[in-house]
Amino acid sequence: SARRTVDPDQLAEQLLSGDRRALARAITLVESRHEADRAAADTLLQKILPHTGKAIRIGISGTPGVGKSSFIERFGLYLTAQKKKVAVLAIDPSSTLSGGSILGDKTRMEQLVRDPNAFIRPSPSSGSLGGVARRTREAMLLAEAAGFDVVLVETVGVGQSETTVAEMVDIFLLLLAPGGGDDLQGIKRGIMELADVVVINKADGDLLPKARLAAADYRMALHLMRPRHTDWQPQVQMASALLNEGIDAVWTTIEDFRSKLEKSGALQAQRRHQAEGWLWRELQDGLLDWLKQDAAVASELPKLQKAVGAGKATPHAAAKKILGLLGK
Ligand code: GDP
Repeated sequence: SARRTVDPDQLAEQLLSGDRRALARAITLVESRHEADRAAADTLLQKILPHTGKAIRIGISGTPGVGKSSFIERFGLYLTAQKKKVAVLAIDPSSTLSGGSILGDKTRMEQLVRDPNAFIRPSPSSGSLGGVARRTREAMLLAEAAGFDVVLVETVGVGQSETTVAEMVDIFLLLLAPGGGDDLQGIKRGIMELADVVVINKADGDLLPKARLAAADYRMALHLMRPRHTDWQPQVQMASALLNEGIDAVWTTIEDFRSKLEKSGALQAQRRHQAEGWLWRELQDGLLDWLKQDAAVASELPKLQKAVGAGKATPHAAAKKILGLLGK
């Protein structure tokens, strides 16, 4: 075919010089499913790995309508005004089903997208959540190698994608709307437990009293939960993306989190633990692919699955048989 092959060494050099277009091309490379591209991507990643890790990695989640893109735009502009380089990446679980992308949509952050110190990349639009997550994690490393100081990973508040994002970031922000006690029921406890910082957005105008009540409710709720870090009690803050209020305070909290956890070593430990966790996930995925590609397994597995479904074989016995096929 006439596909252009990428020179990973050259791309690495351009990336390390901070070239935004090189970053875009590098991310396209790691997102590619062509085998030759994957080999080039692996070479590239290995090359830039020593230059990663300097950014603060921030996860940000919230249900649609809560003001995520408005908040990220204000937050991003606040940071670029302080001469920081900001990358916004997204993991959108719905895009893996629909093939479209709602998050990280550039038209939703009109000002930030024009900022030369910002880089916005929508969610990869195909593949399993695991595949999308892997590519986003790699994009994060690429952004760090390109000299970005802050990497934001945006996702939508639906559950599994939050856990995935929490496994690649340093700090997890949960954006909520004012609403207080009633809303509290609607938010999955599991998501609340991931939050290092809860931001009540839309704390403005008529919504301000409600926002205050909500903040008190969430503070109480968080106190009853076991904190994720021994040296960090989750914080609840109010903000208004509309009025550009409380944005700086959120950044101060993030810096506070970072310095506390760096000092205790918890941040480094978390990153090490996360990277090792990704190794195991890669191994699991790789083994499963390998298993499914085996001819003997392919012919036996459907029968055994049926037998398990019909209650004629135990899952354990069936799995043992399949693994036995690989051992031969
Ligand atoms: P997303 O779906 O979470 O990305 O939310 P958007 O950023 O698109 O915002 C959803 C709606 O909420 C839009 O109509 C915004 O104008 C509005 N909105 C966002 N932030 C605020 C805020 O701080 N205060 C108020 N009153 N409205 C907001």
